[in-house]
Amino acid sequence: MTELLYLPNVDAAYERTFTARITALPPGGVVLDRTLFYPTGGGQPCDLGRLSLPGGVELAVEDVSRSGPAVLHRLARRASPVEGLAVGAEVRGTIDWGRRHRHMRLHTFQHLLSARLFAVHGTRTRKASLGGSGGLLELEGPWTAPTDTPPLVDDMAGYLARDLPVSVRLLPRAEYERSPGERSGLVPLPHQVDPVRVVEIEAADRCPCGGTHVRRLGEIGPFRIDPPRVLSGRVRVTFTLPEASTPTRPS
Ligand SMILES: [Zn+2]
Repeated sequence: MTELLYLPNVDAAYERTFTARITALPPGGVVLDRTLFYPTGGGQPCDLGRLSLPGGVELAVEDVSRSGPAVLHRLARRASPVEGLAVGAEVRGTIDWGRRHRHMRLHTFQHLLSARLFAVHGTRTRKASLGGSGGLLELEGPWTAPTDTPPLVDDMAGYLARDLPVSVRLLPRAEYERSPGERSGLVPLPHQVDPVRVVEIEAADRCPCGGTHVRRLGEIGPFRIDPPRVLSGRVRVTFTLPEASTPTRPS
């Protein structure tokens, strides 16, 4: 089992380095007892970065995925065995902060967009995927008119300008069920999930989620929302956050 160091609160997503112990070495990969690397899932791509071994060897992490309760860090192929790469060894991990922060901004923006589409139009988000500098929502409901886009952009810009805080909390299931938030999550919450990790944008949204998020909406920066399109009978909307510099105060 791998402890997820980015999980407990919103500040944890701002950490960039960590130490951990190697617990398994499946072919091409490393399993650690704890990690800051986000594994691909929930529409959010994985973190990338590097692992430093005690002897000074640096290994590039090329992919991160879940394998049951463990997180698998896939390494670049090497022709010869790596000195110091052994079960029990302590490693120092460093995540690619530019990529991580981009995913945080995209993910929080997606939550707000899904919340506003639901609040204003009653439209639910069926599926969301993030990648590069943008994201895609697959919607269920009445929002199809391209003329709806400018008011939505104004509405979103108003929320970002208010710089509302974002929190991440682990709530006992029973407490979560008493006030689960207005829009349902992307998928029904399995019965065994307890506690529930709730991401809340003050005065705007409350949603169960395992992803990484920014502390305040003002951190998201400029954005673009494209007019909705209907593909294969589904309404889709895409958004883009132009590349922004990383914040000067990461933690
Ligand atoms: Zn989410």
